[in-house]
Amino acid sequence: MDPPAPPPPDLPLVAGRSCGECNVCCVALTIRDPELQKPQGIRCRNALPDNSCAIYATRPQQCRTFFCGWRHLKWVREPLRPDRSGVLVRLHGEVTRETGAVRLGVVFTLLHAAALRAEGLAESVAAAVAADVPVFLNIPGPPGYTSAQVKINEVLAEPVRVKDKQAVLGILRQLRRLGLKGAKQKIRLEAE
Ligand code: SF4
Ligand code: SF4
Repeated sequence: MDPPAPPPPDLPLVAGRSCGECNVCCVALTIRDPELQKPQGIRCRNALPDNSCAIYATRPQQCRTFFCGWRHLKWVREPLRPDRSGVLVRLHGEVTRETGAVRLGVVFTLLHAAALRAEGLAESVAAAVAADVPVFLNIPGPPGYTSAQVKINEVLAEPVRVKDKQAVLGILRQLRRLGLKGAKQKIRLEAE
């Protein structure tokens, strides 16, 4: 899973939320930095057993600037801290075809099957769809392989409109199954 376009530099963090012992982004992200290259799904070699970073003071730029959607977006529900929920929300810069302006969207990555049972998943996805934010579902391939990703605004529009939580979750489940079946390619890093 490559990092999407970075969020605006002035995007604030949600007060009262901290990473704690979470280090999902140190595993789930593909990092392409001159100092560190690693594919998604592989735990960073600098991650210590307690999930802290062995090179924190000198960690690469990508690590310094990345915060997930749970840290940035208040409407991503509180129970969705990535290590507790298996749901990693990332900000996604989508370039508008007409104007070239970057519009902020979100990517919901389901890290494992139990993520579908995470409290607040359907509500958070529905909030984004209802607000007409571009929303993507991302299903990671095996460690080191590419993910499947699809935009879900259209397919969820009706169940969100009628507030049918079970239908929202059913569609996410179906899309996850399809994503797992899709062809995956080994991620190639610059150093290879
Ligand atoms: S995934 Fe989010 S909450 Fe977890 S360590 Fe990264 S930024 Fe913090
Ligand atoms: S260098 Fe540190 S912060 Fe960056 S991915 Fe590795 S463990 Fe995480």
